[in-house]
Order: sequence, then C-alpha cells, then structure tokens
Amino acid sequence: MRWSRYYLFTTREVPADAEVVSHRLMIRAGMIKKVAAGIYSYLPFALRSLQKLEGIVRKELEKADCVELSMPAVQPAELWRESGRWEQYGKELLRIQDRHDRDFCFGPTHEEVITDIVRHDVRSYRQLPLNLFQIQTKFRDEIRPRFGLMRGREFLMKDAYSFHADEACLDRTYRAMADAYGRIFQACGLDYVSVDADSGTIGGSSSHEYMVVASTGESVVVRCQESGYAANVEKAIIGPLPTAPAEDPQPLLEVATPKTTAVAEVAEFLGVAEEKVVKTLIYEVDEALVAIAIRGDREVNEVKLKNLLDGDVVVLASEEKVRQATGSPVGFAGPIGLSEEVRLIADPTVRGLTNFVCGANKADAHFTGANWGRDASPQQWEDVLLAQGGDPTPVEGSTGVLEQFRGIEVGHIFKLGTKYSEAMNCNFLNEEGKGHPMAMGCYGLGIGRTVAAAIEQNFDEDGIIWPMPLAPFQVLLIALNPKDDEVVRQAEALYDQLRERGVEVLYDDRKGRPGVKFKDADLIGLPVRVVVGAKSLQEGKVEISLRRDRERQLVDVADAVGRVQEWIEGEAT
Ligand code: ATP
Ligand code: MG
Repeated sequence: MRWSRYYLFTTREVPADAEVVSHRLMIRAGMIKKVAAGIYSYLPFALRSLQKLEGIVRKELEKADCVELSMPAVQPAELWRESGRWEQYGKELLRIQDRHDRDFCFGPTHEEVITDIVRHDVRSYRQLPLNLFQIQTKFRDEIRPRFGLMRGREFLMKDAYSFHADEACLDRTYRAMADAYGRIFQACGLDYVSVDADSGTIGGSSSHEYMVVASTGESVVVRCQESGYAANVEKAIIGPLPTAPAEDPQPLLEVATPKTTAVAEVAEFLGVAEEKVVKTLIYEVDEALVAIAIRGDREVNEVKLKNLLDGDVVVLASEEKVRQATGSPVGFAGPIGLSEEVRLIADPTVRGLTNFVCGANKADAHFTGANWGRDASPQQWEDVLLAQGGDPTPVEGSTGVLEQFRGIEVGHIFKLGTKYSEAMNCNFLNEEGKGHPMAMGCYGLGIGRTVAAAIEQNFDEDGIIWPMPLAPFQVLLIALNPKDDEVVRQAEALYDQLRERGVEVLYDDRKGRPGVKFKDADLIGLPVRVVVGAKSLQEGKVEISLRRDRERQLVDVADAVGRVQEWIEGEAT
C-alpha cells in the first residue's frame, strides 16, 4: 500500500481523556476516531490489526471444531424475558423500540439468541455436542467507557457457545476452548496468564479469565509460579496465614480509646500488632445486616461476600445502620454484644487468635483480652479475605508465595450449565428418549481490547512496537528523499518485489521531510523498516532495521528483500 493513497493521518493531538498508552497511541497513530463516548470508528490502519487477530481466532477455533455463524445485533425483548435477563441486566442493556413500540435491545451478548436457534434445530443427543462462534459488534452502555477500545460501549467481541448432552462433554469442550485461547494469545505474541475467575451474575459453576499482563490493567491477579496457582483477586483463595502462638486466656477488659477508630491507630494506641486486632465491618446485604470479622491488617473481598450471601446489593452499612447494629458510632464495631438481628461471619484469618483486641460496640471503647467461644461465637466461619501479594499459595504441599500484578482481561470462558437451557426449554432427547436441558458453555474474547492490550504491552516513548502477528503491515518501506529519481526508482522496485513475494508492505512515498518520516515510522511501529536514502544508495545499499531494537544494518539492494523475509520469519514466532 502506498501511504500517499492510504488513509493514515498521524497526529500529535491527544484528547485529555486518553489516560492509557494504548488509547493515546491509537489516536496518535491514526487508528481510531471517537464518534461518541465509547463509540469509535476503526480507521484502516486499526482495521488491519483487528482483522489479523480475527484471522488468528478463526484458525484456532476451527481447530477446536468451533463453527462460525453470525447473529443479529438487534434482539427482541421476548427472548430476554424468557431468560429473565430483561429485568436483571440493568442499565448496561441498551433497550430500543421499533415503530410498533415493540421492545428490542442491542445485544451485549448472545446467549438468548443462540439458545433460541439451537432449541429449534437440535432434538437428539446424536446431534450433540455443538460449538458455534461469531465475531460481531456488541453494545454495552458501560457506566464509564474509557481507555479507547479497551472499555468501549460499542465493541467487537468473538463469542462462542457450546451445547452438550452432559457435563462431562461440556468439560471436554471447555478444556479444548481453554487450550485454543492459550494458542490464540500465544500466537499474538502476548504475555498472558489464565486465571480462576468469579463467574459473577452470568451464572454457572466454573470460569477462567485470560489476562494480558500490563500495569494499566483494570484487573488484579495473583499468581504463584511454584505451585502454578493463578486467580483473579476477586476469586483468589490463600493458604493458612501464620498466626501468633496461642496464649492463656486473659480477662476481657474494656479500655478507653478516645477517637481511635482506624485499626492502625488502635494497634498503636494499645501497643499491639495490627494482626491481633479483629476488625469488624457492618454490611448491608439487601435488607439484612451482617457483621464481618477479619484480621485488622486485611481487607474484605466484597465479591466473595456477595457470592457467599447471594445478595443483589452488598454495601458497607450507613452510619445509621451501624448504630442500629452496634449501638455505637462507626469505628467501634466488634463481635461481642452485637444486636440480635446481625449475623456475625468471621474470616479464618482470625480463627486462631487469642486475647485479641476488638471494638466494644460503644463509642470510644475497645476490648482487649477477647477470645472466641468465651466472649463471642460467629454464626459462620467463611473465607471473605481479599488475597494480596506475599500470601501463601492455597495449593497444599507447596510453600510457594503469591505475587500480585495487574492485567487486562481479554478473554473470559464460562461453564454455564443448564441456566439458559432450562429457562428457555433448550432440550434434547437422550438415548432412552427422555428430554433433558442441554449443558452449555460460553466463551468470550474482546477483539478490540486484545489489540489495545497488545499495544499496552509493546511500546516505547516514540510509539507502538507491533508484535508481528498483529501488525497492520509487516514492513514499512521509506523513500527518504522522494525528489531523488534514483531513490524513487529503487524504492518502487523494492515495493514491487516485496509485494510479489506476498510481504505486507506500507510504502512511505509521501513528499515529506526525512525527520517527519522517521517520527511517523516510530509512531506507527511496523516491525521491519527499510529505508532507501540517497547517501547509502551511492554505495548500492539500503538500510534495514527492526522497530524493536532499531539497530540499523546496511545491506546490498539485491539482498534486501531476502533479508526482510528472513526477519519477518524470525519475528513471527
Ligand atoms: P469486564 O469485567 O471487563 O467488564 P466482562 O466480564 O463484562 O468484562 P465478558 O462479558 O466476559 O466481559 O465479555 C467477554 C470479553 O469481551 C471480555 O473478556 C473483554 O475482552 C471483552 N469486553 C467486555 N466488555 C468490553 C468493553 N466494554 N469494551 C471492550 N471489550 C469488552
Ligand atoms: Mg462488563
């Protein structure tokens, strides 16, 4: 492609809302144009990269016997009423009406439509399993669209859905899809991890997320290299934390702790370690009040709490509710003497504590010498701990430690079980001729988000450094002095030869200054660069380099194409 004919306009102007590198670079490299909040046009240079990823996705999914189809973006409300999600989905669902005032939505996901298709076509266990995918535009009215393609409202997703006669078959397909996902992200040249994930409101029993490691990621992940455990922090569990040795019980003592509410202050004031303070937090779960007792220096994982209590809304209680639960202002709650209506749940991190410190449920007072059993007994012991780096791995027999890092969730796979098939009567007849709901799996992968994540992982201060598999073009060929006939003649010849050999080449034939061309070259970040300049051409040479290290080599004009092809091969893996 000749740049002079191509639609690629780089810019220095970056909007103030472009907080992350991939967003800034995609704007500067002329890849995307904002149309409205979270809604972008993919300009040609971006589209090529998106299509490269789509190609990799198609190739790997087809290996897993996953078959492509395409479903409509606009979906009738009836299907969503059948699954119950018309009511449940909330404001992310863009609801629209047609001219007859009939309700529709713009699909944020396609479980309902695919289940409707399959329930009409598939009757017998003999037709199962089936695994279908599409690459298509979704709309989610995200509360905070941001980071360019990373969290858009309209975005491209690959979504796949599988249907099975039993859970064992679902397990096999789930594993095959997990393997395909691994191959996809590897083929993109990305540093990624697959982690145990919370399956959230979509329902189902098991789920894994694929995270591209990046400091700007919105997700927090813990991983233990030694034991191989990896999980989203929302879901992560840990091994037992070491606790102070048990002491002989001391009497329970109420001590004055004026205006001392934060754990750190209480610990300092009383001269004890934060680990010996039991922190008690009052939560409102739907209508009910729950007290959570946890080690003073640790945080509650509200996702775990929400799943545990099966609540729709789980929030820290208001000041008024805290008074109702504890009889005291915020900051003095403790497990001893809570109101009858409050359920006390304690985290295992405080189970082994003796003579601990806790709030006295009274303004400006704490207890010392508190002991479980004698002074307080939780109704439940449950893991509600937010894991963090440095915690022991939960894998038994391993002494490994969790490390914590940030990641961008690029893919998410779920075992749905029969949630949708039961709600929507998607049944099959088994060998005995009895009807059963199909077991289902669903498998999502963000196309735009993955390309953005690839940039987030591959850039420097001058621009993008495309990994070869996702690069819009493999080679940038620059005619450095476009007014020099010999330069133009050689550049044109190289352009033709490269194209003849099937190399994807962008040819910078623009009438610009060398400085501008080099700046643009670094910004758009194509992996291999070939520079035809008047000076080196006098010695019959052109300059080639990789964007990754920018080390320049002079090669004979006659060898240039061969060398470029070698480099493309080398960069492809
Ligand atoms: P998130 O937690 O980031 O909102 P999600 O759990 O809602 O993601 P899924 O419903 O599992 O995401 O969607 C599958 C994939 O689609 C995600 O892994 C992600 O790559 C992509 N995706 C989801 N929401 C967006 C969005 N707003 N913009 C771009 N890609 C998205
Ligand atoms: Mg979401």
